[in-house]
Formats: sequence, structure tokens, C-alpha cells
Amino acid sequence: MAQKKIALACSVCGSRNYIIAANPTRQERLEVKKFCKYCNKHTLHRETR
Ligand SMILES: [Zn+2]
Repeated sequence: MAQKKIALACSVCGSRNYIIAANPTRQERLEVKKFCKYCNKHTLHRETR
């Protein structure tokens, strides 16, 4: 079974900086603070589909 992957995109510049494995039991959208190398700071990253 192929594992589903989702991207986390910076909410400031829109860059997809992180790729994570999707959790099939989780329904809500993931929002995490992560470092963006384009913004050069920690920003909110949102899950994209
Ligand atoms: Zn950014």
C-alpha cells in the first residue's frame, strides 16, 4: 500500500517546504509553525492537498 504524502506550505510566501506522511485517521487540516528558508523565519505552515 502506497503511503499518502501531503505537503506543508508556508502561509506567508506559499512555498511547499515540508513533505510529511498523511495520517488517514486525522481529518482536520494540519497547521504547524515551521522554519521557512524563503522567509528566513518561523511561519505558520498549512497542509495542502
Ligand atoms: Zn515562507
